[in-house]
Amino acid sequence: MSFTLPDLTYGFNGLEPHIDARTMEIHHDLHHNGYTNNLNKALEGTDAANSSIEDILANISNHSGAVRNNGGGYYNHCMFWEVMSPNGGGEPTGALAEDITAKFGSFEAFKTEFSAAAATRFGSGWAWLIVDATGNLAVTSTANQDNPVMDIAEVKGTPILCVDVWEHAYYLKYQNRRPEYLTNFFNVINWTEVSKRFEAAK
Ligand code: MN
Repeated sequence: MSFTLPDLTYGFNGLEPHIDARTMEIHHDLHHNGYTNNLNKALEGTDAANSSIEDILANISNHSGAVRNNGGGYYNHCMFWEVMSPNGGGEPTGALAEDITAKFGSFEAFKTEFSAAAATRFGSGWAWLIVDATGNLAVTSTANQDNPVMDIAEVKGTPILCVDVWEHAYYLKYQNRRPEYLTNFFNVINWTEVSKRFEAAK
């Protein structure tokens, strides 16, 4: 078995003007494709070649650096495309909205905390909204292609929302203005998908 690059369910221009088409094309066809191919190469002939990506990540301390970087890159981007949508933005509803208010005080307060985690991640990495082992929401961030599913993560949990803060995710349109990219990211969040992941994680 090998991992395959998933198609986007929307066009490269689907997230315009918030995320530009050229960035989406390079990000999906070159970066995510590269992680996918390099993950398959790194797993070739190993015991984990038939494992799920979640199992590999949960035991990442037993794997090579190549599996850590490319397995994280494969998983993180699969999720990233799904938590964005051309019809995204607005605010969550239902149980997720209630939990966000209970945990952070308000949706705006959550937005501030999540954006700060993403803005202050030095260098390359990701910010996450996770459901932790006790069923509580938490905001966290990871370096490089690490994620909260990995056994080596400082803060572990099931991710339900992520944002890529590698420069390749925003540099063409936003150059060094990461906070502006993050503000606009909120206009494309697919809260229906995030809620689905929240319900599954609870
Ligand atoms: Mn990326």
